[in-house]
Amino acid sequence: MKNIPSKQRSTSQPKDLAALRQAYQGWSNTPDPFSRLTRRLSTTLSLETQLGILAEELGEIIPFDALNYRHQIAHRDFVYATGIGGPHRCEYRLNLEGVCYGTLTLNRRRKFSDDELQGIEMIISAAICPLRNACQFIAIEHAALTDSLTSIPNKRALDEHLQRVSLLAQRHAEEYTLILCDLDRFKKVNDQHGHVVGDHLLRLTAEALEAAIRNSDSVYRFGGEEFAILLPHTGEEEAQDVADRVRSAVANLRVDCGGTELSVTISCGVARYMPGEAPGQWIARADEALYRAKDQGRNCTRVFATIR
Ligand code: GH3
Ligand code: MG
Ligand code: MG
Repeated sequence: MKNIPSKQRSTSQPKDLAALRQAYQGWSNTPDPFSRLTRRLSTTLSLETQLGILAEELGEIIPFDALNYRHQIAHRDFVYATGIGGPHRCEYRLNLEGVCYGTLTLNRRRKFSDDELQGIEMIISAAICPLRNACQFIAIEHAALTDSLTSIPNKRALDEHLQRVSLLAQRHAEEYTLILCDLDRFKKVNDQHGHVVGDHLLRLTAEALEAAIRNSDSVYRFGGEEFAILLPHTGEEEAQDVADRVRSAVANLRVDCGGTELSVTISCGVARYMPGEAPGQWIARADEALYRAKDQGRNCTRVFATIR
């Protein structure tokens, strides 16, 4: 592209700008439902917000009693529902370039006419690209926060969670405790049995940790052979019991290595959140307790004791 001298640019602007302004006003105030719908959808990447916009805009043109949307994104069911259904329904699979981006169902007490069905199809066609983008955004966001080997949340997810927790803990004076777990002498496992077996054991460990905790607790892959468990509404003593429980769950794992059975142990460091501290300081205290567990023989739990 050639650089236009600024003087020349400013003299050619008024006429173009006036036309542009008129076009902009037409675009932003258009009564055309398709432009308005796509303009509104383009303002957000939240699938839930987009479906709310779609329901609003669609309802202005073709009244309905209920709209339901369902889609599996990143192995989880995404469900959106608004209104209460009627006996008549039309259902659309939202396909774009051979990929399905969910199923949209409309219900109504009154039957949908053929003209109305055609209208709905046109409106859905106008909405499908933004809906695809919103679905992909959820999938990408999920991938960015998930560890690809174990499929559990990663360090980045933990950092985000700890940031939220440190605010909540201070605001509501709630107790949160963090457990850092590190597989003992794991380098030896890799050296003796290879990385494939090592990876398999990491996956099994993640599963064992998830199975050993409550629904309200969460497990993260913290790093190579390290995991973190975040326990809401839990103090040091209770967290120590949880750490001992997950330790024995991991110690009970067995991997068949062609005749020999391989087992592993973990060491745990426990630290309760101290009001006012940064997430990094909290992790450092749990790490210090973990270091002591390693230093004092491994396959044990140590707590960073705090005075209340
Ligand atoms: P310690 O009891 O002191 O923790 O000993 P360690 O051998 O577990 O600790 P070290 O830090 O010396 O070694 C960690 C090992 O974890 C080395 C590395 O190869 C292994 N590891 C880290 N990430 C992965 C992974 O994704 N897959 C596999 N197979 N091994 C991993
Ligand atoms: Mg380690
Ligand atoms: Mg280790």
